[in-house]
Amino acid sequence: MLLRGGTLVDGTGVPERRADVGVRGDRIVFVGDAARSAIRAERTIDVTGLIVAPGFIDPHSHTLEDLSSPAHRGNDAYLMQGVTTVVTNNDGGGTTEIGSRLAAWARDGIGTNAALYVPQGAVRRQVMGMSAAAPTSAQLDSMRAIVGRGMADGALGLSTGLYYAPGSYATTDEVIALARVAAQGGGIYDSHMRDESSYTIGLVGSINETLRIAREAGIPVHISHIKALGTDVWGQSDSVVALVAAARAAGLTVTADQYPYLASGTSVGASLLPRWAEAGGRDSLRARIADPVVRRRLVAEMERNLVRRGGAASLLVTAPRDTLLRGQTLAQVAAARHVTPIEAALDIIAAGDAGVASFNMKESDLRTFMTQPWVMTGSDGSDGHPRKYGTFPRKLRQYVYDDRVLTLPQAIHASSQLAAESLPLPDRGVVAAGKYADVIAFDPTTVADRATYVSPTLLATGMRYVLVNGRLAVDGGRVTGVLAGRPIRHAAGPSR
Ligand SMILES: [Zn+2]
Repeated sequence: MLLRGGTLVDGTGVPERRADVGVRGDRIVFVGDAARSAIRAERTIDVTGLIVAPGFIDPHSHTLEDLSSPAHRGNDAYLMQGVTTVVTNNDGGGTTEIGSRLAAWARDGIGTNAALYVPQGAVRRQVMGMSAAAPTSAQLDSMRAIVGRGMADGALGLSTGLYYAPGSYATTDEVIALARVAAQGGGIYDSHMRDESSYTIGLVGSINETLRIAREAGIPVHISHIKALGTDVWGQSDSVVALVAAARAAGLTVTADQYPYLASGTSVGASLLPRWAEAGGRDSLRARIADPVVRRRLVAEMERNLVRRGGAASLLVTAPRDTLLRGQTLAQVAAARHVTPIEAALDIIAAGDAGVASFNMKESDLRTFMTQPWVMTGSDGSDGHPRKYGTFPRKLRQYVYDDRVLTLPQAIHASSQLAAESLPLPDRGVVAAGKYADVIAFDPTTVADRATYVSPTLLATGMRYVLVNGRLAVDGGRVTGVLAGRPIRHAAGPSR
């Protein structure tokens, strides 16, 4: 196959250039002037006027369920963004059965390539339930064994969600013990940090904890969806960047990913409850909500957390899809029910909780992070938030073409080679002869996100051709339905 006449942005960060791209089987075999080299192809696609680039790589998604379900394994939401590889099991959540999940994907087919982390929260839950206690040495050994098996079965490394229960019940030392096992397997450490705000140890305290884990476990570290969450920490992006820069200068491998939205996606419970309220699981939580004395303490702490989040008008209910509350803010729900926002929140949590978009970031912090050479694009895509359908095109439309925060080669590099090198995913993330043929071609005049907080599942526009391992997954702007993706196992080896 020959993509002829396009403008190539190859993923390395160098300026765009005119080049044709030839593909045979699952590999790129030619980059250059096809006419001059007398290249002949079975199918030639005219991509004049389009940008040709490496398929995008998403280091943080929540696609485990979609990729494992017959209806959604095509991963269309991502293909239409130009994403050809997703990583999942982030935030310490997901399956601990790495080997069987990768094998099932290979057997059943998936629309994009996909890789997995071993999720620390799920590992802890498997061994200790929702207990907030410290593990016994036997329990710690069990957790280490699960991580070791996951690494041997092909996981990229260890993910944590130290903000969420039960991952949050792990001390720094407990995490270091597990990260050492991932390090022995040549993996990396990916973390949704303990606190992106001012809940417990604070944003800067969390950066320091994350760097300490990396240093003491001897492992490359990746910070998930880097941000400064809430008015208490707005403006601290400079301090975070300085800490990371110092760690990198001292020889630590530190990277991060980011989605280009000012709202995070979470739930009423996760955003407002103190973590002690969740110890023991849902029944214990309901009992605490029902106990008048405990409830008073709970309400007081939740009121403080609501201030951190920017108040009840800053939480917009987005999921589940069939909830009658969808599209209303917590302030509107409370007003309609004639109760305080915290009382309304407790009712929602007791009834099974709801997904929310939490508007808690500042544009200047977002841009400070985005322009760091170690920050890549990551969707953190979840149901109810437009980032699942819009992250990568939005970065191009708003931050390259409209606001010129990044150049096009910079934005493409942050969405491809930077991720491929840090995960690592060998032979992906660059358009060059010999690499896997994960290649996209998009229209620079129409590439854009359409998904919004009200309509979060609108597919992005502008993506005309998407090749996954040399096969057309999007042809002329339409998903073809071929399941050309592959499970990607960690490239084992002592070279890291
Ligand atoms: Zn997260």
